[in-house]
Amino acid sequence: MSAAKFTCPVCGFAELPESHLDPTGSPTYSICPCCGVHFGADDVEATHEDLRRAWIAGGAEWWSMNEHAPPGWNADAQLKAAFPDAPRN
Ligand SMILES: [Zn+2]
Repeated sequence: MSAAKFTCPVCGFAELPESHLDPTGSPTYSICPCCGVHFGADDVEATHEDLRRAWIAGGAEWWSMNEHAPPGWNADAQLKAAFPDAPRN
């Protein structure tokens, strides 16, 4: 199970090494390298949908300076794969 990957509920990035919630449902305070959302902080007062909209409105760019996007990473394809029914604007 050490190789398990998790999907970010905000941007749909599917390579997170850690879930945004621990087994008890508490936030892990991890940060998604893709959208930069800090779980347990940024998503306390905003919904994941709100944060996703904000990320898309800001250009849906890769967030982390230290961790680079996977080769061929594409925000649009990632969003479509993770949230096929989500409206886009
Ligand atoms: Zn994310």
